[in-house]
Amino acid sequence: MFMKAITRFAPSPTGYIHIGNVRSAIYPYLVAHQTDGKMILRIEDTDRGRYVEGATELIEDTLKWLGLDWDEGPIIGGPNEPYFQSERTEIYLAWAKKLLESGRAYADPTPPEKIEEYRAKCNAKKVPFLYRNFRPENPPEWEPGMPIRFKAEPKEYSWHDEVMGDMHTGPEVLDDIILIKADGYPTYNFAHIVDDAEMNITHVMRGVEYLSSTPNYLALYEALGLVRPKLVSLPHILAPTGNKKLGKRDGAKSVTEYRDDGVLAEAMLNYLACLGWNDGTEQEIYTKDELIEKFSVERIQNSGARYDETKLLWMNGQWIRKIFAEQGARALYDRTVNFWPEEAADYPEEYRVKVLSIIYDRLKTLSDLHEMTGYFFKDPEIDMKMVMENKFLKKMSEAEIEELLKKVISKLAEVPEWNAEKLQEALNALLSETGKKPAELFSLIRIAISFAPFSPALNLTMETLGKETSLARLNAVARSI
Ligand code: GLU
Repeated sequence: MFMKAITRFAPSPTGYIHIGNVRSAIYPYLVAHQTDGKMILRIEDTDRGRYVEGATELIEDTLKWLGLDWDEGPIIGGPNEPYFQSERTEIYLAWAKKLLESGRAYADPTPPEKIEEYRAKCNAKKVPFLYRNFRPENPPEWEPGMPIRFKAEPKEYSWHDEVMGDMHTGPEVLDDIILIKADGYPTYNFAHIVDDAEMNITHVMRGVEYLSSTPNYLALYEALGLVRPKLVSLPHILAPTGNKKLGKRDGAKSVTEYRDDGVLAEAMLNYLACLGWNDGTEQEIYTKDELIEKFSVERIQNSGARYDETKLLWMNGQWIRKIFAEQGARALYDRTVNFWPEEAADYPEEYRVKVLSIIYDRLKTLSDLHEMTGYFFKDPEIDMKMVMENKFLKKMSEAEIEELLKKVISKLAEVPEWNAEKLQEALNALLSETGKKPAELFSLIRIAISFAPFSPALNLTMETLGKETSLARLNAVARSI
């Protein structure tokens, strides 16, 4: 058995929660659950300038929707309260004071304009700007309102990243990073080190963008006498073009937008988990339990994974079928409640379930229901052009079409029991009696009863619509010729 992992998802509430942010929750969740450990949700809200009202609730909703329940964190609490960094400022200050006392940090009264001057000087000389070359010689006693900086010791670091492999950096990447800002809030760089230590985090799993700052984090672990957790850098999610990080403009919708567009939570979880990870087999569809069982950090790929919405929608279609097959029409129906056309509300639930069960295998998203099922709830508008210009029907004259429709009507009127089996027998008989090709006969009937670009199998569609409605629609078209 593995050591129990304690992981965390530590989002910043700076706006909507997109695909990339969520994957950083999935992997920690899987690692925690496969070792019977726990995942902590921590809200990193110390960058007050970027704080967005409502963003935390969006994060919580998204995680709950995906079934990524946290074991400690907002709402549920836990032994490491509070879970909002903005409420933990005393804790960070206490840790920063330890560094002040040990001489590994200093209060920095340098005004921002002065810092800009230093930076400009370096730029002019074309040398990298390192604050440690300008650190004040005799820093004052710290007082509130004064930033606290780490006192870096330039040296080499070697470490192992569980995804990126063995890493090595030289002294040039170490600098006097700010620990506590003038506004009293800690920087991300400091706060996460303190919290990960206080919360006994065993695996720090986050985007690869933090890799370049890692030597500074290693220096902080050392200066604070902390055991460093396992570092797991998750590769970028790339735009569909594959040449840059996925951003809003590449269609990176918020996760809740996908939910509202009818993507199932299972499909979203499955798709995102496999974006940058595979178990080495051909398997593509995984339940959450299978992911917990099969996921391994070693198999996270170290190159960027390309976001592909078509694949997500394909997976959603697979999940729609899977839920229908394994849990039944009812279970799938329960997910569809918000996606029906307005008129559907006038029909009994059993009727909607029946419609769903003949159309579900054509759905990519649940919102397709809206467009694909209108004619089950409302007589379609008759559009004779759609009949006459249909590619299978256009070689027939109006008179021929009318005659064919009449034959269809009288045959169907005689069907002894209005069910799919008997309807199929009648359709087969019509084929042989009229000598028409299936595409001709069935296109005519389909258009007349639905005026939709496609419908499920005709016998099922007519069975669902019922005898009266089916015949009334066929008659209405025959009359309009
Ligand atoms: N608050 C950081 C972010 O949203 C989290 C990085 C981390 O997981 O440590 O990018």
